[in-house]
Amino acid sequence: MKRLLCVLCVLCGFQSARALDRQAFTFTDYDLQIKVTPETQSLDASGKITLRNDTAQPQRNPVLQISSTLEWGSIAVAGKTVQYLAQTYTSDIDHSGGLSEAIVTLPQPVPPQGTVELEIAYSGKVPQDNTRLTRIGVPAERAMHSEWDQISESFTGLRGIGFVAWYPISTEAAGLSEGNQVFDSVGAWQERQSRSRMRLSLCWPGGAQLAANGQSAAAPAMQPAGLNCRVVQYEPLGTAVPTFVIGPYRSLNQPPMAIQYVAGHESYARTWAAAGEKVAPFITQWFGQRQRPLQVVELPDKDMYPFEGGSVFFTPLVSGEEKDIQVVLAHQLAHASFQSPRLWMDEGLAHFAQALEREQQDGRKAALAYMDERLPPLQEAEKEFLPAAAGKASSPPKGQPLAGATDEVFFRTKAMFVWWMLRDMVGDDALERALRAYRPDQDKEPSYFQRLLAAQFHRDLEWFFDDWVYRDRGLPEFHITAVYPRKLIPEDWSVTVTVENSGSAGAEVPVAVRAAEGEERKRLEIRAHEKTAVRIPISAAPRQAAVNDGSVPEYDMSDNAAEIKADGQQ
Ligand SMILES: [Zn+2]
Repeated sequence: MKRLLCVLCVLCGFQSARALDRQAFTFTDYDLQIKVTPETQSLDASGKITLRNDTAQPQRNPVLQISSTLEWGSIAVAGKTVQYLAQTYTSDIDHSGGLSEAIVTLPQPVPPQGTVELEIAYSGKVPQDNTRLTRIGVPAERAMHSEWDQISESFTGLRGIGFVAWYPISTEAAGLSEGNQVFDSVGAWQERQSRSRMRLSLCWPGGAQLAANGQSAAAPAMQPAGLNCRVVQYEPLGTAVPTFVIGPYRSLNQPPMAIQYVAGHESYARTWAAAGEKVAPFITQWFGQRQRPLQVVELPDKDMYPFEGGSVFFTPLVSGEEKDIQVVLAHQLAHASFQSPRLWMDEGLAHFAQALEREQQDGRKAALAYMDERLPPLQEAEKEFLPAAAGKASSPPKGQPLAGATDEVFFRTKAMFVWWMLRDMVGDDALERALRAYRPDQDKEPSYFQRLLAAQFHRDLEWFFDDWVYRDRGLPEFHITAVYPRKLIPEDWSVTVTVENSGSAGAEVPVAVRAAEGEERKRLEIRAHEKTAVRIPISAAPRQAAVNDGSVPEYDMSDNAAEIKADGQQ
């Protein structure tokens, strides 16, 4: 049938696929009725979507895309069926690695800024699918833990854009093997549709409950026999990925959390609730009062990867040590308190909160070890800035400035380190006060937060923001070039340590002088490509000098210590 349609449209003058502008229209309004049938792994959808032409030219060919395992039933305008070409469009924006695309020909072109309302119907199965991951070499089992979206009797859970196109979208093809293409494409779609509205009327067979990350309300009284229905609304869509799960859910409300757990898992839910209660005061102290409750929805299989769905955190509850759960919840509670349109702040601070929580549990060393585990991918991402690589490359490294970073290793890992370094530089009080003063709606330029911090901490931070936030200059690379111990009076020493930073990013870094027992440390500000000395007094024979305790991310930590001989000579 698809092939036949194809032939027909060539004859009747559809625009060629190449000339199509898949981003011509913004999807401003969704009003969909979706019936989910776990027994047959299927959904049946119908309803209306409104599209606005955001180009400067009249447009006649909107493109509607749904997951490749779904099929278009009908598309109409004002009650009249319209012609469309149905084709499969390869794209990793969907878990199946493809989309069922309908290239519509409207009876009349839509003028610039004009809208068109389409009446649509589509249906089909949504089985679990790891195609897009296995075809780039991810082992099948791991891919399944990540791609848990499915409709089935054992579990029904669907995430939207970026996972399963269970509602119509329109995007250019994106490939997981093409760097950040999929991530960027999803981000661009969300940004564009962030002020749009979605209203879902979801129905499913009786017995089970629905949990979703939109505002949920009871459906109008007229419900099909044997079905449960609920209305879920996103007004506006914002940056949340519309997500719902259906299963035998029960509720546990214990501030600061509202947990929906799978029947039989009450003890796990209680463990999480207790962990949340314990972590909450500390996170509030850092990030302010919660702007919204923390909602947690259980994923039934312990191997499923957790998912941050806006105000709802989808996660397995079964596995996990108490301390690990607290660290996970520190992230989610930070989100509930602090929101920013800037990823390096929004996500970076939530990861910083996890490191802070590790420090609360077991001290600074444990927090630094926690951060260090996450460092290798960042070292890899920044290696184009390595001093050795810089001379050889034909063009200067570009990198990804944190302020606008869309790569996770930057806006999560690098940002976490940057917040930690700032905290070490300005102190907890100043950073906490600056965070409390932050207002997302006033954050109009990248330097906004720097100004808030400058009001609390009167020292030049421009160089730091320049090296770490506004530009990407890679990481520092420290090593000790000289150590001069000097004996003053018996048992009192003064050790002069010279540290070189051969990297292109400056930092303030701790330098320590260690004796057989105990150590003394000072903080040293070392700009890029500079050498600086610091004098550290110690009241025992110095044995070793070392730079960087792991709080500053650098390329190579193995060359950071210098031994001092027993008589105090280097
Ligand atoms: Zn997060």
